[in-house]
Amino acid sequence: MTTPPERAYGAATRLLHADRLGGVEHGAIHKPLHLSAAFNYPTARELVEVFQGNQAGHVYARQGNPTVNALEAKVTLLEDAKGTATFATGMAAISAVFLALLRAGDHLVCTRFLFGNTNSLAQTLQALGVGVTFVDATAAENVRAAITPATRMVFVETIANPVTQVADLDGIGQVCKDAGLLYVVDGTLTTPLLVRGRDIGAGLVVHSLSKSIGGHGNALGGAVVDTGLFDWSTYANILPPYRKGPADKWGLLQIKKKGLRDMGGTLRAEDAHRIAVGAETLQLRLRRVCDNALALARWLEAQPAIARVYYPGLASHPQHERATRLFKGDFGLLLGFELRDGIDTLAFLDALQLVIVSSHLADNRTLAIPVAQTIYYEMGPQRRAEMGIADGLIRLSVGIEDIADLIDDFSRALEAVAR
Ligand SMILES: *Cc1c(COP(=O)(O)O)cnc(C)c1O
Repeated sequence: MTTPPERAYGAATRLLHADRLGGVEHGAIHKPLHLSAAFNYPTARELVEVFQGNQAGHVYARQGNPTVNALEAKVTLLEDAKGTATFATGMAAISAVFLALLRAGDHLVCTRFLFGNTNSLAQTLQALGVGVTFVDATAAENVRAAITPATRMVFVETIANPVTQVADLDGIGQVCKDAGLLYVVDGTLTTPLLVRGRDIGAGLVVHSLSKSIGGHGNALGGAVVDTGLFDWSTYANILPPYRKGPADKWGLLQIKKKGLRDMGGTLRAEDAHRIAVGAETLQLRLRRVCDNALALARWLEAQPAIARVYYPGLASHPQHERATRLFKGDFGLLLGFELRDGIDTLAFLDALQLVIVSSHLADNRTLAIPVAQTIYYEMGPQRRAEMGIADGLIRLSVGIEDIADLIDDFSRALEAVAR
């Protein structure tokens, strides 16, 4: 993995020039698409050395290829971290972390405010014999109180989906440090530009690259980033073959061997390329999206037909102060709101002309979805109530359109249904 020498460059500059400074074949400016499944070396000895991990290189593309590695180097730069492994999707990345690092009898402390599919995955872990305790992660004390002698890992999200709770990110980092626990943070909703894993004490950060980092809704991917803060020599579940060489490499090595080589959750080169190109404009897109989301949240909050708005940028948000401190004054693209009682949520969504009714997040286009009936349907009413999800809650993923057009669209849709 190549790292450009000039760490002093700003984040946008480093990202744009990462491929070139790392050295691209044939003078290309972009890392080319490598589509070969297999790799060959001049001598059988070299192939053996690569297989045994004594020499850098590729053996079979299920474990990665140069295009994918170039994207990994960029994500490592963004997080200012030690190393990155990429996966086919964000869920493949999270699965790889859980399944590579947890065993039956272990205990996981997990935020209760959780992406729906991660919640379902946590239930799979329970079926496999891993104990999971769901806690209100907006207070680090709740995490501390849930720790048992069997606890191996703490998992939280930065801004939770869809009610936008902001976890006590640095407080939990301190709890994990005190207890010697691996702290895993899903940073998808903030990206490394709003908060980096190392700044809140995370050992691992996971990102869905399908969201803001790729940014265009045309590629799926996920990443596991090792910040370098966790001491893997203290982690009991590292298997003997991966306890080789310096301990700072052990965790990511086991995650790659299990998640990529054994489970096959490999990111495709085409998607790695699209995500890498998308990431070049992350800073520009995020600037626009954060401005649009804050303006829209403020406008929605002022409408009589809207009962509640959830956005960490609003002074009314319970973790507004924390979000302001942690996220450098920006609050991301995710916004939730509830219509006043008696207004039909689905009719309102049908009245939108510009905003797209869709389940994705972090497209350039603004997307809206009624969550209780769709992405949070399977978990049932009790779990939804624990997460603060009302039946009428609409989730918005704010895009980069002209703000006046967005406000116009919501305004017309409200007029149509809120007579
Ligand atoms: C979308 C998302 C995921 C899953 O990512 P995919 O790439 O869709 O598999 C995980 N966590 C969060 C917070 C997400 O928004």
